[in-house]
Amino acid sequence: EERGLMARPPELNDQSVTSVRVVYSDLHGVTRGKDVPIGEFDRAAEHGLAFCSAIMGTDLRHTPVVGGEAGYPDLVAKPDLSTLTLLPWEPGVACCIADLEPVSGTSAAPADPRGAVRKAVAAFEELGYSPISGPELEFFLCVADPSAPNGIRRYVDHLSMVYTVGPQADPKGVVRQITEALSRLGMGTFAANHEFMNSQYEINLRHAPALTAADRAFRLKSAVKDVAAIHGLIATFMGKPFNDQGGSGFHFHFSLDREDDNAFADHGDPDGVSDTLRHFTAGILAHAHALTAFLNPTINAYRRLVPDSLAPTHANWGWDNRTSFIRIPAERGRASRVEVRVGDGSANPYLATAALLFAGLHGVREELPLGPPVGGDAYTLDDPGEPLPTSLEQALDALEADTVLRDAMGPQIVDTFLAVKRFEVERHRTWVSDWELAEYLHHL
Ligand code: GLU
Ligand code: MG
Ligand code: MG
Repeated sequence: EERGLMARPPELNDQSVTSVRVVYSDLHGVTRGKDVPIGEFDRAAEHGLAFCSAIMGTDLRHTPVVGGEAGYPDLVAKPDLSTLTLLPWEPGVACCIADLEPVSGTSAAPADPRGAVRKAVAAFEELGYSPISGPELEFFLCVADPSAPNGIRRYVDHLSMVYTVGPQADPKGVVRQITEALSRLGMGTFAANHEFMNSQYEINLRHAPALTAADRAFRLKSAVKDVAAIHGLIATFMGKPFNDQGGSGFHFHFSLDREDDNAFADHGDPDGVSDTLRHFTAGILAHAHALTAFLNPTINAYRRLVPDSLAPTHANWGWDNRTSFIRIPAERGRASRVEVRVGDGSANPYLATAALLFAGLHGVREELPLGPPVGGDAYTLDDPGEPLPTSLEQALDALEADTVLRDAMGPQIVDTFLAVKRFEVERHRTWVSDWELAEYLHHL
């Protein structure tokens, strides 16, 4: 008892806290968890909370795809007290992220997305590096409207344009309130802006050690959806929600710290970047196809990866080039970094972070050589590099064939992910869509 109380983080001594929400990410990046009354939290912190493991092998329509053969045993969510924060928009509620563990030493380890990031970070630390990540997430705000085509219309249409501010861009001040709330949460939310599309916004998170950055991106997605819901809006991070608008990206900025310096910087290099940066970039490009399975994990995601979208269509890199897969921004010295631009907001922040780090690690370990950059508009080049998968099915095939990534991420995660996503592909393959009826019904 005493040990439990002493381990209590100071936030919980705040008299107003009545519940702790213990959360973790499922394979889709969706927040799952339980609300624990404050009086029970010490016990939960010590022993963890039990969940039915079916949750980690279930598709978004609640069908359990994997895990039946083992009888869906329990898994345990063990709160990581260092992640405890108060939720500004739900007074009295604190929130804590959990790691997933098997219920006993004998049962199989659960597919824990956060655990994959821990593993990737540890692998870099063995080489003396600390990976740093800066996630950027775009999303749309929508309003439920039964008279609109899919029961959804955009929060603001027509008026809102990129980098516009104030009531015309955000009539109810919702984006500003979301940003303020996230900042109070200690999320390193340093800016929010209106994006290119109507009702599309972006929130940037300050770069941080990769696990912290992934925790923040995971929290950001549900925080944005929660605060939007409080205002009667629907926030969506899906990659391409509208046919008449571009999609929403989930960009990752990466660098590697070593001995208190940025190992991606090299003042002596003609381009000011180190070979470590080049190898890391080459590693990501070498695994680009398989990576799209984690970075663009939906049927819908591939509709965003088209020319003139500021999203890439080929596995390539460029100097400060927003038409490429990896952009190397112009800043040098401590700010030297790469930006991976392919992902969309439907990606699980943990799986995406871990997979990118493992791919980069492969490049650094093997000292993979980096090919030439693309210059200018990569959408119109004769030789823009290898084309990316154009469907989820192609991406899953690439992931299945990528043994380096499978071994690194672990078979529990990769095999479960593949099974769940293959089931999604098959459900879609046999579904008659609006497009088909509009195209064929009258004419054929
Ligand atoms: N919305 C673009 C995308 O889908 C990115 C625009 C930007 O560079 O901010 O990736
Ligand atoms: Mg953006
Ligand atoms: Mg960006």
